[in-house]
Amino acid sequence: MAASLRLRGAASGLWYWSRRPRPAADLAPLRGVLLCSRSMASKTPVGFIGLGNMGNPMAKNLMKHGYPLIIYDVFPDACKEFQEAGEQVVSSPADVAEKADRIITMLPTSINTVEVYSGVNGILKKVKKGSLLIDSSTIDPAVSKELAKEVEKMGAVFMDAPVSGGVGAARSGNLTFMVGGVEEEFAAAQELLGCMGSNVVYCGAVGTGQAAKICNNMLLAISMIGTAEAMNLGIRLGLDPKLLAKILNMSSGRCWSSDTYNPVPGVMDGVPSANNYQGGFGTTLMAKDLGLAQDSATSTKSPIILGSLAHQLYRMMCAKGYSKKDFSSVFQFLREEETF
Ligand code: NAD
Repeated sequence: MAASLRLRGAASGLWYWSRRPRPAADLAPLRGVLLCSRSMASKTPVGFIGLGNMGNPMAKNLMKHGYPLIIYDVFPDACKEFQEAGEQVVSSPADVAEKADRIITMLPTSINTVEVYSGVNGILKKVKKGSLLIDSSTIDPAVSKELAKEVEKMGAVFMDAPVSGGVGAARSGNLTFMVGGVEEEFAAAQELLGCMGSNVVYCGAVGTGQAAKICNNMLLAISMIGTAEAMNLGIRLGLDPKLLAKILNMSSGRCWSSDTYNPVPGVMDGVPSANNYQGGFGTTLMAKDLGLAQDSATSTKSPIILGSLAHQLYRMMCAKGYSKKDFSSVFQFLREEETF
């Protein structure tokens, strides 16, 4: 059946969405989510959980678009500047769910996300029927599917919407969102995600956003290692790093790692390599994403030879003290570890 949502009308100044009755067979994908009274196309408070490197600028872009926020982070300092800006900071994910019927989570790993949703004071403890819960963390697609089932039992809607683009794109509102979930809810998700990203792409059922993200990050890891190796080799051969980057970026070796996020200090401004690899996308997070790619490759019997090597390399970096540095520090790792 075609889209089953329609804008019904205004009550108390808020727009309400409802679903037209569906034939029984067509109800299966929406078990328990028959009536949605979530406020739409209105600037009612949006919950935001996880105000780290990415969540911080993403939440600020929602603020810029006029959305009041209900904020929670397990690390209180992460909430400070939002509190100072007048946003409401609460003390658990459950409290966020009590006050907001649209919530975005931006957390490091599957474990953190499960804790935020299903923990003692998790979102599911107080989620309102019809709420829209969007998880933008990069996690295991199987976990997204499990969470979607739990959320559905509570009469709410879950979508996975991981992002690509890094901290710079998060700041400028130019992220790419890869969205998985019930297609009829995509427009509702797009209303918020469009404030933080320039590309919001519907991928299919729950978990497919994560699938797209995992493939992207495996390719990113491989291209970053390749860029670091090529830059290091060129420098050893006597080339000026800026000149080499310029040539790569006008040649067939050009990629995001070479032209937007170059790993060599001094080649570009405003990237982690210009700031001792602080901020950006942590090596530990990249190792985590490559682990997700490895698990997915095993379960689908897909060969990922370079992806597996990249996984080992990033795990080695974590063991050698690089875990908190940006993943482009693989350049520094190669230079410091080379014993050939
Ligand atoms: P981060 O570690 O900087 O931020 C995560 C935040 O979540 C922190 O403030 C932390 O205190 C908070 N947190 C952790 N557990 C929590 C809990 N149980 N309850 C509440 N808050 C909790 O991570 P990040 O770089 O912002 O990345 C977030 C997600 O986005 C990750 O899944 C990552 O893989 C993905 N991602 C990151 C980038 C990047 O460039 N940093 C790019 C694309 C995707």
